[in-house]
Amino acid sequence: MRREQIFARDDYQCVYCGERFEPAALTVDHVQPRMRGGDRSGGNLVTACGGCNARKGGLRLSQFLRDDPVARQHFFARAAPYVWPRILRAVAEELEQLSRK
Ligand SMILES: [Zn+2]
Repeated sequence: MRREQIFARDDYQCVYCGERFEPAALTVDHVQPRMRGGDRSGGNLVTACGGCNARKGGLRLSQFLRDDPVARQHFFARAAPYVWPRILRAVAEELEQLSRK
């Protein structure tokens, strides 16, 4: 999917903070990183604002979501309808493992 299509699908709202932005302030974020086999399909891409993307930085999504309850809530509520279920499950499982440490 092209970035404009991702933004439009997400109504120009960041999947982590829920705020709406101009397209220039938005980025496309891979839920499953490409280096871990994530693809560029719509089921692996979400809209993220520059601020959230910077806060996430090099963290794994599960680490970022563990440390940011607001982002966690937004992510699972907003991404659930279109992110591939197996990817959502993997993120949820990683979160569970992290919370047991
Ligand atoms: Zn954001």
